[in-house]
Amino acid sequence: MNRMFIVLVFGISFLLSSCTPEQPNDFLDGRIIDLTYPFNEDTIFWPTEERGFVLEELHRGYTNAGFYYTAHRFCTAEHGGTHLDAPIHFYEGRREAHEIPLEDLIGTGIVVDVSEKATADRNYRVQASDFESWEEAHGKIPEGAIIIIRTGWGQYWPDRNAYLGTDKLGDDAIPELSFPGLHPDAAEWLVNNHNVKAIGIDTASIDYGKSEEFKSHVILARENIPIFENVAYVDQLPINDFTIIALPMKIEGGSGGPLRIVAVVE
Ligand SMILES: [Zn+2]
Repeated sequence: MNRMFIVLVFGISFLLSSCTPEQPNDFLDGRIIDLTYPFNEDTIFWPTEERGFVLEELHRGYTNAGFYYTAHRFCTAEHGGTHLDAPIHFYEGRREAHEIPLEDLIGTGIVVDVSEKATADRNYRVQASDFESWEEAHGKIPEGAIIIIRTGWGQYWPDRNAYLGTDKLGDDAIPELSFPGLHPDAAEWLVNNHNVKAIGIDTASIDYGKSEEFKSHVILARENIPIFENVAYVDQLPINDFTIIALPMKIEGGSGGPLRIVAVVE
């Protein structure tokens, strides 16, 4: 049994270790909230990705040598479930997954809640005025903030029809996609007015479902800002005063990848 194999086994147990959103904690200053969906056969991928997350059992049970042993192999597209979009995903010459500084993945979190507007209009796009209203209520967006957009879409996971607007697979699904996102003008406002480390959303894409040009992706990628998609359980977060720790799989040359993201709440 070689070393890579053992590393893979540990990696899988890490990814699968927790389905409960909240963990007790006695060494960090606060409660830890898991913002990550488990990877399994229900994990939502973009409709053009037909395979999803595949976990292949290699062994489960007692070996001939007498010890118990379980191991799997997994196969997944980079962009499914709770995941990272590295800047290279939408902008030539920008950072690949392994190049994103850890400092940009750990920082002060804030929640911008547009769930009421998204409930009224499932194609709602977050406006600059939503960020301005946040600032009126809570003060300036902190320097180096990690912004989490709460649309309320987590309530639909893993129902593809409700979450994406369609449960079709393949190119036919694309015109039927329907979910909220970030308006490109608001993305431009953010990068012009704030030094944001990263931005996350509780939908399948930072651009809304009807987007054809993915302009918000492009604007954020241009500025080397990592994006987190399908962020889970954001309804458990306060509006501010928490820390985000977002550690994606370190895929060399990756355009993104599976992400373990947690919040530490005071
Ligand atoms: Zn993605």
